[in-house]
Amino acid sequence: MSEAALLAPHDALGRTKEILATLVGFPTISSEGNLDCIAYAHSLLAPLGAKLEVIPDATGRKANLLATIGPDVDGGVILSGHVDVVPVEGQDWSTDPFRLTEYAGRLYGRGACDMKGFVACALAAAPAFADARLARPVHIALTHDEEVGCLGAPRLIAAMAALGRRPAACIVGEPTGMALVEGHKGCFEYTTHFEGLEGHGSRPDVCVNAVFYATRYVAEIMRLAGELRGRAPAGSRFDPPWSTLSVGRLDGGIARNVVPNRCAVEWEFRPVSRSDVDFVWQRLLDLAEGVLLPEMQEVHPEATIITEVIGEVAGLDPVPGSSAVALAARLTGGDAGRAGVVPFGTEAGLFQAAGVPTVVCGPGDIAEAHRPDESIGEDDLAACLAALDRLVPELSA
Ligand SMILES: [Zn+2]
Repeated sequence: MSEAALLAPHDALGRTKEILATLVGFPTISSEGNLDCIAYAHSLLAPLGAKLEVIPDATGRKANLLATIGPDVDGGVILSGHVDVVPVEGQDWSTDPFRLTEYAGRLYGRGACDMKGFVACALAAAPAFADARLARPVHIALTHDEEVGCLGAPRLIAAMAALGRRPAACIVGEPTGMALVEGHKGCFEYTTHFEGLEGHGSRPDVCVNAVFYATRYVAEIMRLAGELRGRAPAGSRFDPPWSTLSVGRLDGGIARNVVPNRCAVEWEFRPVSRSDVDFVWQRLLDLAEGVLLPEMQEVHPEATIITEVIGEVAGLDPVPGSSAVALAARLTGGDAGRAGVVPFGTEAGLFQAAGVPTVVCGPGDIAEAHRPDESIGEDDLAACLAALDRLVPELSA
């Protein structure tokens, strides 16, 4: 064992705080680049012999980082965290949000809780993973653009699949106070654009009224919302227990006597199961492509209905007997039978959809996330470090 593996708990916490201070110093707001932050994580992991994949986005201004520590075999554990943070504009901070400030056992800064705290713990634990001669690997998966619809994680997951790695479990370290979370609803956001043909209000017969067609679409969303109530899975612990649909904004038309050629429907969908996703999409597709569009194109062949994806955060379906929940229970001393569900979305559903059993479990309180004076307790970080410590024997046997 090297010195790093023998660090006293106090030193591990000190190292975690140093790393967290550096991470918070990169203002990785989702709309900005993150390459300096990713390069910093890379610089900590490369000397440990980690196999590193930098996975850039289409703009080249941001990247994910996938680090594998230990043998390149199946059965490893993913520690997943995003390094982007929400903006600070309009928020009244008492300190510089991009300078970690310590006060009375708490560490203040944007992202300290959501979720650079977990990322700092994983990076601080990395030397111990590297020294432990693991039988199965730890994968540290750092992503961009989680806060704007989990846009980075799919590329990281695809890269992992392309490398042929099949991990046994994924721990998404979003703040749960180290409690075990086995489920959350998805959050899908869309804008459906209807484009018809404009004209004088006296000649609707030669026009395609985009508002008319959009409202028929809205009426179907409303009908589906009612049907989803009856499809709530037995024993669902979500509140409400069924998948929900809502239209938040409808925008079309300019004046009473002008037939509108454009209308946009801004709607969202929070599914509790993947079967509800398929159910809703099939019905909306049947209506749009099977009924509305043919009618529109009969008058105006160029008419279109286009659904723009604003963000798709897949849900995490609770799975009875989940091996990921059981693993997190052993690491934290928690009770797998009491794993809960939360109302916020994470990247966990994406890992689960890729076939990796996944649990959400990380340090800090979600109530601290996104607010001014965001903070995490030193005790929260210490609890996370203790759990990561127990990962070494889990992966050694
Ligand atoms: Zn987060």
